[in-house]
Amino acid sequence: MSASPDLLLPPLLGVEGRVRLPGSKSISNRVLLLAALSEGETRIENCLASDDTARMMEALTALGINCRTLPAQADAPPAIVITGCGGVLPVRQADLFLGNAGTAFRPLTAVLALAGGHYHLHGTARMHERPIGDLLDALRSLGAQIGCTGNEGYPPLTIAPHQDNGATQVRVRGTVSSQFVSALLIALPLLRRPITLALEGETISRPYIDLTIALARRFGLAIEARADNTFFLPGTHGYRSPGVLHVEGDASSASYFLAAGAIGGGEVRVDGVGADSIQGDVRFAEALANMGARIEVHPHHILARPPENARLRAFDLDLNHIPDAAMTLAVAALFADGPCRLRNIASWRVKETDRLAAMSTELRKLGAQVQEEADALTITPPARLRAAAIDTYDDHRMAMCFSLATLGGVDITIRDPACVNKTFPEYFTAFAAISRPVPVIAIDGPAASGKGTVAAAVAQALGYTHLDSGALYRLVALAAQRQQIAPEDEETLARIARDLPARFAQGRVWLENDDVTDAIRAETISQLASQISAHARVRSALFQRQRDFRTAPGLVAEGRDMGSVIFPDATHKFFLTASVEARAQRRTRQAQAMGFHANIDSLRREIAARDAQDAARAHAPLKHWPDAQLIDTTEMDIDTAVQTVLRAIQAASV
Ligand code: C5P
Repeated sequence: MSASPDLLLPPLLGVEGRVRLPGSKSISNRVLLLAALSEGETRIENCLASDDTARMMEALTALGINCRTLPAQADAPPAIVITGCGGVLPVRQADLFLGNAGTAFRPLTAVLALAGGHYHLHGTARMHERPIGDLLDALRSLGAQIGCTGNEGYPPLTIAPHQDNGATQVRVRGTVSSQFVSALLIALPLLRRPITLALEGETISRPYIDLTIALARRFGLAIEARADNTFFLPGTHGYRSPGVLHVEGDASSASYFLAAGAIGGGEVRVDGVGADSIQGDVRFAEALANMGARIEVHPHHILARPPENARLRAFDLDLNHIPDAAMTLAVAALFADGPCRLRNIASWRVKETDRLAAMSTELRKLGAQVQEEADALTITPPARLRAAAIDTYDDHRMAMCFSLATLGGVDITIRDPACVNKTFPEYFTAFAAISRPVPVIAIDGPAASGKGTVAAAVAQALGYTHLDSGALYRLVALAAQRQQIAPEDEETLARIARDLPARFAQGRVWLENDDVTDAIRAETISQLASQISAHARVRSALFQRQRDFRTAPGLVAEGRDMGSVIFPDATHKFFLTASVEARAQRRTRQAQAMGFHANIDSLRREIAARDAQDAARAHAPLKHWPDAQLIDTTEMDIDTAVQTVLRAIQAASV
């Protein structure tokens, strides 16, 4: 599978707003299966639509279950309607591809092992690395006929009709995944006899087992959880449809927005989970409160705000009960006032990826110190985060949690962002909706259009940083000229651009310790800059350096591709222009003021030639982008041009 294109997330000033959560993945996949096994028809509302639930629905359809997706109607929300099979699956032979959906693979393994047919279950390469041996052992002890076609204890699996040995007790180890326990709890009623499930060893992620029990109860089956770590299933009847079932919002998905609210800016309200929630991950809110965040848990929504006048507090927590949401806490640790320790999270190693290793590697890219142990992480936040490109390892949660690093005021690139489709296809849209990015005002225009002077004045008026991107290309040109590099030598020029020892301070421009403010304005350098800036590799070498200028409270970015390539999401875009005659006159006056000799006729020719050269090139040509506001400065003095830009910004923000 090819990776989706990188997603560039801008640095944020903060977050604020309200989020409506998609349905819970854990509930959706359990309910889809329970409805399929039930007697009667179930209407499931707010069911999650994602890769993992799609795999479950495909499998159920392949097994002969009727699943229909109903669009919203005037008096009813959209829904999935499932006609249950009353515990007898219509199709007795099937090949099922289940992707990397653990919530589909494990319970279907258990159900099909006891269903009496021939089935082949497989998934992605990663799914074939995720252990399932403890579940197979338990099922085989009941007479299930399951073979592993690859490594013993791992998918793919072949299943033949089980030879029921009449056992009334089954034991399972829940130390690797609580899903093995949940899978058995869902499947055992198919045996239609009283049976006891006994847990061996310390069971992890217990809230997910409680979730399974709560949902089985909605489908008419009372599973009795006993104090001695056993569960009694009475076996008098199978599942019965509750009619309509509303899936609550996904509590793990809520964690990103709650953490965002706790880390920065204003209040975030998350609708769809709350005190009445049956998902264990709602307890993530407690972990945030423990860090000092101001959290309010209402029955069906949660509010999150940062601590009052303080940083988030460091923590040392056993997170066995909320392994998924704990990943969000690992990123929240970047914003804490000291080292944070996440304990008892060994299950991270067998999830979508080895999350302990992946998390450590990616947190280090941001500047954190991370100590990785077999089942714990200690994270020491850096004084300031570094911009970074985050690898996501085909793990939706890696992609989602690292979006929060933008609250450190840094630029974050998320590689293969489409991996969020596993559980939350609309994640980045929802995150953008509460984001307040550091504003960027992009100003472009041809030489001597006044863009430089206007950009500097606008930046000063707003208290923003000013990026003169042309100066960067001019600096490369000057460095190249000094080192006698040919303008065609793209590779060497790109290296110079990458390592450029440029500094901008107090309105001056430095190349190492050399004040080159005036030298880069010479006409020979203008010409050379125009030539070398046509090289794609020179441009990409300067890409991140330019994006790094985007810091609070805002940036005025001046130059060719500021509003298109470097900051496509710029808040305001302007294109300044002026007649060639007016521009030649301005350049003449500038040159004379700097003590250079200037000939207006040759300047006019040079400007026209440079316009033509800049407009004709393949990479970042000079052009008025349709989304940029055009300002003709031919008849304007600088003050008027500055006021025109400032007024346009003000008008847009009211
Ligand atoms: O704007 P200024 O005249 O200082 O730019 C110098 C040269 O660098 C111009 O030829 C312009 O095309 C190029 N440039 C660029 N991309 C930018 C800024 C300037 O190609 N972002």
